[in-house]
Amino acid sequence: TSPLLKIEHLKKYFEVDRNQTLKAVDDVSISISSGETLGIVGESGCGKSTLGRTIMGLYDKTEGRIAFKGRAVDQMTASEQFRLRRNMQMIFQDPYASLNPRSTVLELIAEPLDVHKAYKNGKERRAKVEQLLEEVGLNVSFLNRYPHEFSGGQRQRIGIARALALDPEFIIADEPISALDVSVQAQVVFLLKRLQEEKGLTMMFIAHDLSMVKYISNRIGVMYLGHLVELTTSEALYEKPLHPYTQALLSAIPIPDPDIEEKRERIILKGEIPSPINPPSGCIFRTRCPFAMDVCAEKRPAFVEVENGHFAACHLHTKKTPKVTIRA
Ligand code: SF4
Ligand code: MG
Repeated sequence: TSPLLKIEHLKKYFEVDRNQTLKAVDDVSISISSGETLGIVGESGCGKSTLGRTIMGLYDKTEGRIAFKGRAVDQMTASEQFRLRRNMQMIFQDPYASLNPRSTVLELIAEPLDVHKAYKNGKERRAKVEQLLEEVGLNVSFLNRYPHEFSGGQRQRIGIARALALDPEFIIADEPISALDVSVQAQVVFLLKRLQEEKGLTMMFIAHDLSMVKYISNRIGVMYLGHLVELTTSEALYEKPLHPYTQALLSAIPIPDPDIEEKRERIILKGEIPSPINPPSGCIFRTRCPFAMDVCAEKRPAFVEVENGHFAACHLHTKKTPKVTIRA
């Protein structure tokens, strides 16, 4: 099947001043199939939010190609782009900051419907909002209340209802659980998973660690300093991570299974994430990598398919592997 979204060699650079460039997203290629949930994981500053916002059109790309259903977004007509914006929606990290405190729940959820005039009359508008409230597990009696009256988890449900109001095909959830209490994180993830399945949504789920992303993602991409360093199925990523950075991220999450815990020693990475303004030569991870070799300072490892559908950018895995390009 052809991908719903295909990104090729995407770059998003920010000019910090006259001779400094922040390479927030640097040469990322990835595609998402229809109905798939792709997790994107990396520490803060790795470029994952910038990637999401550039795909959404909130930022102009610096270079590369973004195609939706085979059509390059920058070659679409204005009306095609307007329809695309309706078809792609975003869920934000901080549900409180993204909700106008002076609007009622009814107004908040109806706003995207209002913008796109997606109803015939007030009765239909209200019925749609009630249906959305029900879908995200909120009581219909909340309609005339205000965001401050709700918990973080409830606010995120309002954010999800807003994102779903126009029946989009594609959702980018940018750290939708990071600002929530641990006890409600799983509830929101399971809600998103259920909605994804019921509606056949295609989703990009952005997270800063690997603790919950497994439950919702078919495949997971790991980003470091603007680069995609590993990409594979959720199962393969957790069972056989190839990139030393992924191995370190995995070692940092508590695992309830004692058999697995025994095999997985905590890897403490030395140093801080380097600045994306002055990234290291060669492998961008080499300043923190426990396995760094001489070649890692000289040559940037290519992003290659090490095993079937399992991609990584690391010299430990590129030696005997012929260079391949990313498949659709
Ligand atoms: Fe570590 Fe070298 Fe692999 Fe980079 S290329 S992750 S520095 S072993
Ligand atoms: Mg972010």
